[in-house]
Amino acid sequence: METATKSKRVADGNILDRLFRPMGVEGVYARTREYEEVADVLQQLISRHRPDDAEVFRFPPVMSLRQLETQGYLNSFPQLLGCVCALHGTETDVSAAVDRARRGADWTSETTSADLVLSPAACYPIYPIAAEKGPVPARGLTFDVAADCFRHEPSKDLDRLQSFRMREYVRIGAPAQIATFREQWMQRAQSIAEALQLPYRFDRASDPFFGRVGQLMAANQIEQALKFELLIPVRAEGGPTACMSFNYHRDHFGKTWGLTDESGETAHSGCVAFGIDRLALALFATHGLIVGAWPRAVLQVLRLD
Ligand code: AMP
Ligand code: ZN
Repeated sequence: METATKSKRVADGNILDRLFRPMGVEGVYARTREYEEVADVLQQLISRHRPDDAEVFRFPPVMSLRQLETQGYLNSFPQLLGCVCALHGTETDVSAAVDRARRGADWTSETTSADLVLSPAACYPIYPIAAEKGPVPARGLTFDVAADCFRHEPSKDLDRLQSFRMREYVRIGAPAQIATFREQWMQRAQSIAEALQLPYRFDRASDPFFGRVGQLMAANQIEQALKFELLIPVRAEGGPTACMSFNYHRDHFGKTWGLTDESGETAHSGCVAFGIDRLALALFATHGLIVGAWPRAVLQVLRLD
């Protein structure tokens, strides 16, 4: 389903130099004003597509370690998780750790968990919040969520960040409601990519499950078409990058958090995730580093004209 012709893509190094500043760690960047303006208008464009019944939440970049454990994250993606640790204990304990730092010794071994993790996906905190509301109504539930996400996958590739922005629409309800939601969003995503004149294709996909058992889980995910991605060329070399994903979790979160309908049937869920940073990078890679020189129609869609 590739649209548009092969574009004159901007070199990765130029994008990095122009739009980002290094912060001393791979995949973590300071973002310039022009880049942020594009990220902002992308968020606004996505908001203009918000379903009328969606309840809005914005999450901090951290979430409860216990909640993440409860949903089984450590069985699936332990390699990606970033945990928040702190110096606990008495003043003497804390001072001892600082002394180690002064001596050039490792002080971080003195830290212990602060019961927080860096959120690996924007939708994870919504399921326990939804469960607090009581039974899922017959019309289902829809949420608009966003968070700064962290995944420990350091890379020099400009589209593989350790810290990135994720925006999501989440649907909780009966299996047919989730299927309709996902189909509608795949259509909408296609029209958004076309309006932004971004070349794209859809593909079945799998998440990066950990280890050998994980390979089976990934194969199962592909076979059952639980995840689709919309891919756009972002890097000058190599294949296109997943910029949006369309996920069907079946009853995973419903079971975990006791989400049921009025009759006690476990609710299903699904989400559409927009990688804001990847979408912004895709725009710069496709249309060039000077926003004012982008095609008029693209600027109009982004209300930058
Ligand atoms: P996923 O949960 O893996 O489907 O991620 C949701 C969306 O977040 C993807 O479609 C990407 O656009 C974006 N994303 C995932 N990983 C990264 C990363 N390392 N750097 C930047 N964006 C990412
Ligand atoms: Zn999600």
